[in-house]
Amino acid sequence: MMRQYELVEQVRRYDPGADEDVLNRAYVFSMKAHGTQTRASGDPYFSHPVEVAGLLAEKRLDTASIVTGLLHDTVEDTAATLKEIGGLFGDEVATLVDGVTKLSKLELQSDKTKQAENFRKLVLAMSEDIRVLLVKLADRLHNMRTLHHIQSEAKRRRIARETMEIYVPLAARIGIRDWQEELEDLAFEVLNPDGRTSIMNRLSFLRSEGEDLVSAVIQELSNTLADKELGAEVSGREKTPYSIWRKMQRKNIGFEQLSDIMAFRVVVDTVEECYQALGVIHGRYRLVPGRFKDYISLPKPNGYRSVHTGIFGPANQRIEIQIRTHEMQEVAELGVAAHSIYKTGHKSGPTEGRQYRWLRELLEILEHAAGAEDFLEHTKMEMFADQVFVFSPKGDLFAMPRGATPVDFAYAVHSEVGNKCVGGKINGRIMPLRTELRNGDQVEVITSNAQTPSPTWESFVVTGKARACIRRFVRSQARQEYVRLGREILEKAFGQGGYELTEKAVKGVLKRFGAESTDDIYAAVGEGRYTGREVLGAIYPGSKQAGKPSNIVPIGRAKPKPDQRHAIPIKGLIPGMALHFAGCCHPLPGDRIVGIVTTGKGVTIHTIDCDTLASFADMPERWLDVAWDLDPDTPDSYTSRIHVVLANEPGSLGTLSTVIGRDGGNISNLKITNRSTDFFEMLIDVEVADVKQLTNIIAALRATRVINSVERARG
Ligand code: MN
Repeated sequence: MMRQYELVEQVRRYDPGADEDVLNRAYVFSMKAHGTQTRASGDPYFSHPVEVAGLLAEKRLDTASIVTGLLHDTVEDTAATLKEIGGLFGDEVATLVDGVTKLSKLELQSDKTKQAENFRKLVLAMSEDIRVLLVKLADRLHNMRTLHHIQSEAKRRRIARETMEIYVPLAARIGIRDWQEELEDLAFEVLNPDGRTSIMNRLSFLRSEGEDLVSAVIQELSNTLADKELGAEVSGREKTPYSIWRKMQRKNIGFEQLSDIMAFRVVVDTVEECYQALGVIHGRYRLVPGRFKDYISLPKPNGYRSVHTGIFGPANQRIEIQIRTHEMQEVAELGVAAHSIYKTGHKSGPTEGRQYRWLRELLEILEHAAGAEDFLEHTKMEMFADQVFVFSPKGDLFAMPRGATPVDFAYAVHSEVGNKCVGGKINGRIMPLRTELRNGDQVEVITSNAQTPSPTWESFVVTGKARACIRRFVRSQARQEYVRLGREILEKAFGQGGYELTEKAVKGVLKRFGAESTDDIYAAVGEGRYTGREVLGAIYPGSKQAGKPSNIVPIGRAKPKPDQRHAIPIKGLIPGMALHFAGCCHPLPGDRIVGIVTTGKGVTIHTIDCDTLASFADMPERWLDVAWDLDPDTPDSYTSRIHVVLANEPGSLGTLSTVIGRDGGNISNLKITNRSTDFFEMLIDVEVADVKQLTNIIAALRATRVINSVERARG
């Protein structure tokens, strides 16, 4: 394990101005916090954060990142709190530790591989400060190095799979190539031990045949370049088993053809020399077709620059050569950490203020990354500003637009789930349906077969699918209502003419009305486009009733009793027109009312004090003077709506429904519009006979202790 002074020394080597005191304090704090905890290996737990800090120091990160590395597991695994860390090490470190803690709680829960892409985005989106991601990657790298100590094979495989699918692409994305390669090879070892072993065997066979080929090739390449007076550092190595494996998969080559196992690097001073060296090598050796790539004139999105080529090398084996400058080499090894050192001309080490510049540049690169890259072609950072990522209870990950609500989520799961959604649990707590979802939320939709989509949902959903489903449902519901109404109108018209309304009779006139089904005709009548007598006249031209004016108008109540013929509840209507009660003011018998005519849609009844009427103020031709006309023998029930503020305490909902029921009201719908620790606000639909009954209910509610206020809802 790295000693305290060794870590401080390592940091001071690249950052002489680093705050020694805070590094020392963090080291001691973490050691004390983890105390006697041990790792699966039996080592003291504290060795882990120290190693993580060491990995970050290798990447020459700023002091806050190193301190975060030391403290990254203290909040999750020890008694230490964020507040404590903020007090001792400042808000910056506390924010970083909090970020790493949150990331560590995320686990790829689902086995579906398509989830990986979303999960990577979630990890990136939650790493608002890219240093959070760097600490997390170092954490993961050390955990992978020590993974063999974990007993359970299932757990090893889960962690390895998560590493391969999530963290390897992220390391590649930010250009930390050595971490990427080590992570993928460690994961490969767990996920496909047989594949890795066979590649290792092949490699040692090739090695045994060709003596020390790597150093021979280095020697010959160096000489070739020196002949042309090009001073170059040449290095070489075997590729990792995993990168060979992937190449075999991609190119569909077998072991026998596996010869391209060495990679060499030529490092020169200037860009011009890169191309000169390339020319020398291509002039001397035969090119392997299709391997030349110029990432100098066209850098990778993560900032990587280099020229790649493949040749048949000195002993006629295929080798890969990367040519780059010292600066490019630094970037390739350190990731974008190296950028600022060069761009700002401070080779001696970053100074205060500058040392964060590379972080900003990294963000810029991530944001402006264009073109297809190996893995994360769709993962531009800026895209996450308008997306949130949430889990289903099974662990499936859904990408939703920002502002999405549980209703949007329900429709994203399935349109039937959306249509039956009555509530949503977010992270285990029941929340209002209009709650905005946040990154990492787990969302559970509560459904009921009795539920249907509410038109009010349209005001807060943000996804096109949810909106379309709600509209479709509302439309089809409206149509069903018109069909029902139309059939009632026709039954009356036919009955008065002495005829019976039959499907067969109506079918006979489909063509004449340009309709495709009998329902089309019923709906047209329900909407007031045809009168019952017009249809009767079309079917039975000889009927005495045909075309005659009449005041028979059926009514449009929500719950008709099929065997009960209503008298018209409203006087003054235009015959044949459909009747609606406005959803804004819910008129009740006893209210003063007015009718508003909408062509093709019938008459809508509002209360005289309804706010909606203001929008018809300059259209007097649409106003209709109407009055209630009730049949006292067949009392009907009408839906009214009240707004209630209720104490949030046990039993208060029960009290509420008891009081309403005692006065004969029937709760037909209930919606919580607001919820705080002290109060519920809700809209309640109550079925009553008239305004007098509602007034009694409101008075009784107001007299109840748990009720804070009650108003009739209008508009
Ligand atoms: Mn850790």
